[in-house]
Amino acid sequence: RVKTKWAGTRPKVASSDLALHHFDMTYSLQLGDLWPSVRVGMLSEKKYGALVNSFSCDSDVISALQTQGCRDFISTALTEHLSTDPELHNPTAAPITSHIQCFTFPRGDISRFRPARSDSNGLLNYYLLDAASVLPVLALDVQPGHSVLDLCAGPGGKTLALLQTHDLRFLWANDLSGSRTARLRRTLQSYLPTELLMEGKVHVTSVDGRQWRDKDESTFDRVLVDVPCTTDRHSLMEEENNIFKRSRTRERQMLPLLQMELLLAGIQAVRPGGDVVYSTCSLSQLQNECVVQRAVTVAQQEMGIRVEVQNLSSFTRLFSHTFHFAPQPAVGELVLPHLCANFGPIYLCKLRRMS
Ligand code: SAM
Repeated sequence: RVKTKWAGTRPKVASSDLALHHFDMTYSLQLGDLWPSVRVGMLSEKKYGALVNSFSCDSDVISALQTQGCRDFISTALTEHLSTDPELHNPTAAPITSHIQCFTFPRGDISRFRPARSDSNGLLNYYLLDAASVLPVLALDVQPGHSVLDLCAGPGGKTLALLQTHDLRFLWANDLSGSRTARLRRTLQSYLPTELLMEGKVHVTSVDGRQWRDKDESTFDRVLVDVPCTTDRHSLMEEENNIFKRSRTRERQMLPLLQMELLLAGIQAVRPGGDVVYSTCSLSQLQNECVVQRAVTVAQQEMGIRVEVQNLSSFTRLFSHTFHFAPQPAVGELVLPHLCANFGPIYLCKLRRMS
């Protein structure tokens, strides 16, 4: 009998092909008729947003972006859509007071942004990111004087967006990975004045976020839990650091457990009455709604903490001119990639700690 020599004979399948096969199996069931169009979007070039760095003294940045045909999707939503949509007139419907500016090209326009430029102080004028990844930060609704924990912060796009609110009293940015924390520090140095970094307002650490579960300190007003996930778009396009690599199967299968533990740590860290936003860049129900639902139950049963999921439907309505949202997930909101607005996937769910 010939012994099977797996290492030598097993055909080498690209991790991105394994990812596509996995997504075809699961997302066609989850998204039904929507899956073919989401699939095409995810396999096509994604769209970026330019998060304006308000700490930069480049006074021309806004007009330069406008001249290229971009608009700040946040102020556009607040000034144009808020006033014309009667559903949004209720002031509690869209609790957004934001200084964040994120420019995007119009729907269907696939122009690319020029690389960011340094101002006379050496600070970069904008940060390019998936514009939908600003939504979890907006949903967090940071208010003046708030202390915020960004539990999984590297490489720092959302940390930078949080700092653009100018409202923070204190920001604790953490990431388990040393290399990601190093990237986060470099990002902060490229975008923030040295004086601000010296003030001690921003604290960066590199520890396992799950440790917050053991701390008996529920002090933060807001916590962002932007967890590691299957990073669906990356998994379809890149071989490097691909979680669908066969050797990482166990790590991938354990993701929902890790995500739930991180969310529970975030719930533990926020003060009663404070808010937590959970987010991923995956379409997976198992990593999105299921994690949230399980964490809410475990928080109540094992930690005696009551958590309520907040309704974000008005929030998504406000931004529906820029992003394609999935029709009503069980809990939370999901930005679906679409050829005309190729942002996401980004899932977000807002939770309020009641006790
Ligand atoms: N919020 C980041 C941003 O906007 O740039 C992206 C975060 S990324 C989706 C998830 C991060 O979680 C990774 O940088 C990873 O190193 C980190 N991570 C993984 N396990 C962790 C843990 N146990 N505790 C804290 N961070 C963890």
